[in-house]
Parts: sequence; C-alpha cells; structure tokens
Amino acid sequence: MEIIANAEHQLHDPPFEILDGVLTPYYESPRRVQSILSAIDRASLPVPRAPRRFGLGPILGVHAEDYVTYLQQAHARWVISGRPAESVFPSAMAPQGIAGPSSSPSALAGRYCFDLSAPITSGTYAAARGSVDTALTGASLLLEGARAAYVICRPPGHHATRNQAGGYCYFNNAAIAAHMLAHAGEASTAADEPTTTWGMRPPVVAVLDIDVHHGNGTQAIFYERSDVFVVSLHGDPDREYPYFSGFADERGAGTGTGYNLNLPLAAGTDDAGYLAALDQALSAIAAYSPHYLVVSAGFDTYIDDPLGDLAVTTGGFARIGAHIAGLKLPTLFVQEGGYAIEQLGINVVSLLQGFMNA
Ligand SMILES: [Zn+2]
Repeated sequence: MEIIANAEHQLHDPPFEILDGVLTPYYESPRRVQSILSAIDRASLPVPRAPRRFGLGPILGVHAEDYVTYLQQAHARWVISGRPAESVFPSAMAPQGIAGPSSSPSALAGRYCFDLSAPITSGTYAAARGSVDTALTGASLLLEGARAAYVICRPPGHHATRNQAGGYCYFNNAAIAAHMLAHAGEASTAADEPTTTWGMRPPVVAVLDIDVHHGNGTQAIFYERSDVFVVSLHGDPDREYPYFSGFADERGAGTGTGYNLNLPLAAGTDDAGYLAALDQALSAIAAYSPHYLVVSAGFDTYIDDPLGDLAVTTGGFARIGAHIAGLKLPTLFVQEGGYAIEQLGINVVSLLQGFMNA
C-alpha cells in the first residue's frame, strides 16, 4: 500500500459554508487530514509521500478549459473588483436553460458553482491542483505495477462536474485518475498495432463510490462512456445531498448506457445492510472485468458523521476494505468525505487494514 499526501491542502481553509440556511463553520477543514495522518502514523502504515507534479493535461481530459481558467483566476478577479477577500461565494445562480454572457465576478461565481459549499479562497486553486497531483501519483503507481495506493486528496472531488464546483469539490480527483487509467494503453497503440497493450479491448476502469453522498460529478463526467463503469452506494437522494441525482434509474446514456449503477440506501443502514449492497456493487464490477479499480473513499457513512445518516461502524470499514480486496484488482483509494473528524483517521486505517489483511 503506497500512501500519498499533498501538503498544500492547508492553503484551502474556507471560513464558512451555508448549510440548510445556516452560516456554518466549514466542515471540510484541514483538521481532517491531520486526523488521517496521525492515525496512519499510530498504525505504523507506510509514511505518506509527496505527490509528483503533473501538468494541466490530465485535468483538461475531464474538465472544461474555461472552468479551469476560471478556478485559477476567480479569487484575484473577485478581490480586484472590490469584493471581500475572504472567499468567492455565489449569490446568484443561472436559472435553468439560461446562461447569459455576463463576465461579472458574481455571475461567474454562480455559473461555475452549483451550491453554497464550495467557496474559493486565495489558496483554493493551488490546493485543488495539489489534490489532483496526489490522485494522479497514485494512478501512476498502479500503472507501474503497485497493488494499491491510498491518496489523501483534499479538497475532495467527486461532486465536481466537468464545469462546476460544489459539495467541497473543485477538480474531480477520482475522475481524472480514472480517465488517466482508462487511457493508459493509448500511448503504445501505433497505427499498425490494432490493439492496446491489454489485447483485444482498451483498458477499462471501474469507479466505486462509497461516500454517503452520491458522486454526481463522477457520474456526469462518465455518463456517456463505456470505458469507465461508475458504481455508487449512497444515501437515497430523496432525502440526502446532492438531491438531484443518484437515483436507481440513472443507468447511463448513449454508448454509456448500462455503465452507471446507483444503489441508494435507506437511513440508518448498518454494517450488514451496507455490506449486502456493497456485494451487489462488487458483483456488477466483477462482471465488467475492469483492469483497475478507483474507490472514491468517503467515510461519512460512519454512524456518528454529522453530514450523513447511515450507521457504518469502524469495524464495518475493515469489512468493506476486505470485500473490496476480493476483486483482486489494482486499486486506488481516493479520499473523499468524512466529517466525524476525531474518528476519521481511525476509520481510514480500518478500511486500509481490512483491504491489506484480506
Ligand atoms: Zn460525502
């Protein structure tokens, strides 16, 4: 198990979010990584290494160029216009189907963001780039033959769409890593070589999202693709964020039809109920025969998490890890949510040890 961490995550520390109409201290705080790092240290897991640096290329494989440019410039343009330096925060979102060309910093804040939990501070872009590099380093290690890697991505990514931030997410780390893995054979495919290094078909990747919130961004990015199978277990969006996607009838579109699977869960789902749904997801993934597995590893399914209503225990995470190991695939664990900060690191270690000891 290789572990990668990005120090620049600390540059991203927004002061607040607006949650259910209440000004709330930002849940997705740098203290989350401190909890993970200290638990990894206590458990004598491998010492986290710094990421390698990748350019914008892999990001532009998933995200729109105008969105990437926006994230890079948003805070400076916001401040220059006289708005408060604390953070870029939308106050108006485009009505459905309407996207006028206003270049006002406030208009852009509403165009490129879909909720009130992804403010942009002076350090957000650098932190988000570091988070992507962390995920890509893990993906590269798999390509070089590693069995597994855990990447401590912060900010997280699975809510970020091709051109919108939201849900604490800016760049979709797991999607960018999955895209890289799915294209891994391309470089060696010459014109006179009809197959990739994998033989009869191009490499395919499964993304398993176990965060309590539906990974709407990852689903949207791969919705019309058949080379990345996206499977998500999450609280039923009928009651749980992000509300507008994650329903069971969303199965993909076009060539991606059949390559998206949502398993919405009831409130209070415990270890046994969760593992039953997980096994259903793992069976579907096994039938797809991917070459790589990317796990969007959220820990907000935890019984005491303030942002979720499932009831997975610390011991449950070890069993989740063991069941995932049963796929026997090169596996990249990408850190997503988890807001019971005291217990977060312990739950991460439980999942990783369950995987390694299986
Ligand atoms: Zn979450």
